[in-house]
Amino acid sequence: MERRAFVSEKELEYQRECAERVRAVHAGETAWVDTYGCQQNEADSERMRGMLRDMGYILVSDEHADVVVINSCAVREHAEQRVFGNIGHMTHTKKENPNMKIILAGCMAGEETVREKVRRSYRHVDALLDTTSFWRLPETLLRLYEDGGRIIEDGEPDSRIAEELPVVRTSPYKAHVSIMYGCNNFCSYCIVPYVRGRERSRLPEDVIREVRELAESGCHDIMLLGQNVNSYSGGGKSFAELLAACAELEGDFVLRFMTSHPKDCSRELIDVIASHPKVERHIHLPVQSGSDEILRRMNRRYTAEHYISLIDYAREKIPGVIFTSDIIIGFPDESEEDFERTLDLVRRVRYDSLFTFIYSKRSGTPAAEMPDPVTHAEKVERFRRLNALQDSITLEDRAPLVGRTMRVHIDGESRTGELNLTARTQDGRLVSLKGSTELIGGWHTVKVTGVSTFSLSAELA
Ligand code: SAH
Ligand code: SF4
Repeated sequence: MERRAFVSEKELEYQRECAERVRAVHAGETAWVDTYGCQQNEADSERMRGMLRDMGYILVSDEHADVVVINSCAVREHAEQRVFGNIGHMTHTKKENPNMKIILAGCMAGEETVREKVRRSYRHVDALLDTTSFWRLPETLLRLYEDGGRIIEDGEPDSRIAEELPVVRTSPYKAHVSIMYGCNNFCSYCIVPYVRGRERSRLPEDVIREVRELAESGCHDIMLLGQNVNSYSGGGKSFAELLAACAELEGDFVLRFMTSHPKDCSRELIDVIASHPKVERHIHLPVQSGSDEILRRMNRRYTAEHYISLIDYAREKIPGVIFTSDIIIGFPDESEEDFERTLDLVRRVRYDSLFTFIYSKRSGTPAAEMPDPVTHAEKVERFRRLNALQDSITLEDRAPLVGRTMRVHIDGESRTGELNLTARTQDGRLVSLKGSTELIGGWHTVKVTGVSTFSLSAELA
């Protein structure tokens, strides 16, 4: 039964044949995968880069490349506008290089409204490739080269898993590992279930093998990814069991995961975090709102009280655990009282940091039909108040860290300021420090010298 959720070996073999045929003619040309949005898109882009590399392309970061794949995000309207803006600019680039192929991939490619818009107004885009069919990239390029024309197909997301795709990882030390794809939750504001298809889990042995290989290759920071990791169910294993199995592998790595949905976050999972030192002491647990009425209309299927009980349980079991969250401000008809409930919850939980968003209407979702009398100015004001509250909590709770030593992984160079290196603590906080670039790629002990809402500053201890 379960294998039906997978793309067959025969289909993958066909993609490899297409890749060979593209390679025979186009090896040595350049390709750019430009990524927007979440870690899931980053992970998909690494696979698309793998396929492009196998087709003989030289990977670049340049819109003048011979192949440009835009891996887009559809979660908020603003993200879409940015992508359309950038695609718009490419009309000129394509005039200079008429053989160039432009492919719009990612979440936007799964939207009917986007398909229509691209058909009518963005005629220089050659193909759309949604998140459930990006494994067909070799076939898509071959058809574009051999048949000409455009490839914009309607239809439902494919909802199968393609294993064994080639990969070019962005960093040797940090890796994203998708453990599942799609989403079945249909939160009323969210477009993800429509564009990423039904939820499906990879088999645990495939995930464990990937994590083992990463750990053996010296990867130090491994993040397990899914829209709702807590509803993972591959080969009869729960997420807590999968996480425990990965955390028991050999190697000097920290295991992160996101995203947990509060309705499915089990006490068993919290116990696994508590008893496995390789799992980060941090839970990203998006609450979205502190008002039960708004949560009900969001179709989140938990109450603020249930959420708090999870936080309390985790704090009791995992000393020092930190929490982060996503919050949407200005969901349709959010009252001042609903908003105050969100502030109360933020005061009660004391997050380490928050990702805050102003509600964005996504066509085709149930919330898009809900009346929304609250003005944009009011939403912006609430957004400001929430962020000011969180900033003060972040600074208060981080202040006692000054003077403490901690283990961090130095990830890379910073683009700004005199603290030239960036690092991450085991619980996922960003750190800036000064030091030799030779330290990049290793674990080091540092002493915290200052804190901000954005990061910790530190010096080597
Ligand atoms: N699957 C994850 C996150 C998905 S999208 C989860 O359920 O937590 C990441 C975040 O974007 C969401 O948590 C939500 O806070 C925000 N988001 C999603 N749709 C949105 C919309 N229409 N308007 C504003 N923010 C939105
Ligand atoms: Fe969107 Fe909700 Fe699914 Fe997250 S759980 S992807 S917010 S529908």
